[in-house]
Amino acid sequence: MANVLGWLVSRGNNTEAFVVSSEETFDVIIVGAGCLGVATAYYLQKNSPDKKILLVERTLAAGQANTAMSAAAVRNMFASSTNQLLTDTSIKYFEYVQEELGYDLFFEKTGYLWLLGEEQFNHESVKVWMERMKKSGISHKVYNKEELKAMIPNLNVDFAGDEEAELMNLHEVSYGLFGADCGVLDPTRLVEYYFEEFTKISHVKPRFGVNVEKLLLEADPKLDLPGEPYAWQKKKVNGVVTDKGTIRADVVVLATGTWTNALLDPIGIDSLTKGKKRQLFVIHAEDKEDLQALLDVKGFNELGSIPFTILPSAGVYFRPQLQERGFWIGCGDKVGRAYKYIQNDEDMVPESSYYENSMYPVLSKYFPAFLGARPVNSWAGGYNYSPDRIPFVYLECGVLVVNGASGSGIMKADAMGRIADALYRGEAEAELYGGKKIPSNTLSIKDRDVEVESV
Ligand SMILES: Cc1cc2nc3c(=O)[nH]c(=O)nc-3n(C[C@H](O)[C@H](O)[C@H](O)COP(=O)(O)OP(=O)(O)OC[C@H]3O[C@@H](n4cnc5c(N)ncnc54)[C@H](O)[C@@H]3O)c2cc1C
Repeated sequence: MANVLGWLVSRGNNTEAFVVSSEETFDVIIVGAGCLGVATAYYLQKNSPDKKILLVERTLAAGQANTAMSAAAVRNMFASSTNQLLTDTSIKYFEYVQEELGYDLFFEKTGYLWLLGEEQFNHESVKVWMERMKKSGISHKVYNKEELKAMIPNLNVDFAGDEEAELMNLHEVSYGLFGADCGVLDPTRLVEYYFEEFTKISHVKPRFGVNVEKLLLEADPKLDLPGEPYAWQKKKVNGVVTDKGTIRADVVVLATGTWTNALLDPIGIDSLTKGKKRQLFVIHAEDKEDLQALLDVKGFNELGSIPFTILPSAGVYFRPQLQERGFWIGCGDKVGRAYKYIQNDEDMVPESSYYENSMYPVLSKYFPAFLGARPVNSWAGGYNYSPDRIPFVYLECGVLVVNGASGSGIMKADAMGRIADALYRGEAEAELYGGKKIPSNTLSIKDRDVEVESV
């Protein structure tokens, strides 16, 4: 029998390793080791090699929170030129990491397929979306109903005479808008990549199991008066108060996603973001011939698989999971799903009734292959929405905020990390992968210069 207790004794009291000395000071503390925190950590350290950068995270490893809950689909098919730039350059970097550096991110170019009804396709917003993609050189192709029917035999495009479909407000499928440069990857591998690259060049061991309770806001300069800072004093965040002690730094990066309000509100900075619960349910194709055939649909990509597919109704989508031979089913529902100011434990629990009552009926109407299919696994997390669905990256009073990815933080992580680094170094422009540049303050609250995102 394995000597488990002996191992525990020899390991000692691990919590001691996490105790923080109040004497410790750093150039930068990064709070949050999700995909945005680790990408930021890497670019900061890479471009400021002498700086002491501490990464702190309250869970016991990097990428365990919403990053791990993600469908990890990546697309450059956005309507706003800002999101196009952030995602297109990030995806190209992921490809470079996998193809040139040989670090497998399990990035698979499945493509992205939006199934749209006649009215949806002809809507002004879709016209603008396609025009902007054309202008930016984002690859996309339109399939008509007949082409889709021929390529995806199991797809139900016609609901004529189907009273249930009418009751459910389902749009018939008239078009497919397809992006070949989109795909899926493994979010854990992505986090591991940035984390490993960061720790190779960092001078400071990251600390896990450390909860940041508040930001240390002080008068700037400190006059050591009782109760300062006063309203007339300048103020600056000079570190963080954690459950293991206080740590000081010149700059504190908040990559805390859906928990950012808990840290910014008490010091009077409005993050302008809020969360929404999102869930994924896993269906295995197993021995179901129809589901196997759907997974193996040919003609869209070199993998010979169905693309990441978004249905025309109710926000239901699925991601092919080729290693598992199955599908991850999700839903981006709008009205009826509450916004959450700060994500809580309940938001991390999937609801089986949500799959059964909301997703399954829609899914199986469009794809009868899913009839009778029951999830073998499920999980939940939160999106961190900004009002215009474009992320935030800004530096204010010593806090560098990197959040508001609005449900697409994996696919924007590289660009957001580079912009955060440029802001930290006081550069007017950030250089993204491939050499494209963006003003460093584009994603700020005060000097924001973006188009509202509509897809
Ligand atoms: C179901 C679902 C599907 C999704 N699908 C996609 C997709 O297909 N493509 C895509 O690009 N994105 C997707 N997303 C969104 C994506 O997961 C997020 O945009 C991304 O993970 C945000 O990265 P982050 O680093 O801000 O978040 P997180 O991974 O949540 O990281 C924040 C970290 O901060 C830590 N933290 C917070 N507060 C404190 C504190 N006080 N002290 C210490 N540590 C703290 C947390 O523990 C956490 O590790 C999806 C999300 C969900 C929930």
